[in-house]
Amino acid sequence: NKVKRKPLVAANWKMNGDRALVEVFTNALNQKCFSGLDVVLCPPFPYLSLFNAETFSIGGQDISHLKNGAHTGDVSVAMLQEMNCKYVIVGHSERREHHGETNEIVAEKAHRAVSEGLIPIICVGESLEVRKEGFVERFITEQLQAVVSVMSADILQQCVIAYEPIWAIGSGETATPEQAQEVHAFIRGFLADYDEAMASRVRIIYGGSAKPSNATELFKQTDVDGGLIGGASLNTDDFIAICQAA
Ligand code: PGA
Repeated sequence: NKVKRKPLVAANWKMNGDRALVEVFTNALNQKCFSGLDVVLCPPFPYLSLFNAETFSIGGQDISHLKNGAHTGDVSVAMLQEMNCKYVIVGHSERREHHGETNEIVAEKAHRAVSEGLIPIICVGESLEVRKEGFVERFITEQLQAVVSVMSADILQQCVIAYEPIWAIGSGETATPEQAQEVHAFIRGFLADYDEAMASRVRIIYGGSAKPSNATELFKQTDVDGGLIGGASLNTDDFIAICQAA
């Protein structure tokens, strides 16, 4: 039996979209009533202030682990809050890979976000090589260990974890519901060793080529509490269908 956790579906637009798409999404989502479900849109920074979100929340795709100062190109938690963000993605594999973000930096980002009032969506997940070598659990343990070591259970409970196997991101190759459940259960088990009540409350969402045709099966899994959607979040019909599957 599935423990009741409020599902969350977040759109990660990455470096896609434009002013027109913001309008299309705002209109389409505001016409829906998502009851018992959190819907989040994470557009590129310049578009955050253009959303007039009524039935959903908005979030940033990243933040600095620092408070403010001489950090050209970076954006702080306080800035996102001023733009009415409620969430922020941290540790996406594209940031880890292309911007050299370590487990420690990602943990600091998550910690700063949650201690300043944003809900971090903390991404973890292995590459195909790691999976082939049979080191998925070890790899994810290291990613989570960094986070757990800077946060109390109380604080961690407010975070969202996103399991995003790198081999499934943008590849069209989705993890099977069983593969997703296996890792989600592992993540929850890891958190339970730290604090059982927290682990049962934390939302763990899946990301990696999720789409309307596979969302229902994925979201049915015991430890899958929603999704982080890339490609399919750029089309209103697809994204709304995925939200309705949650
Ligand atoms: P995808 O991306 O849905 O396009 O695979 C998911 C993500 O990277 O967050």
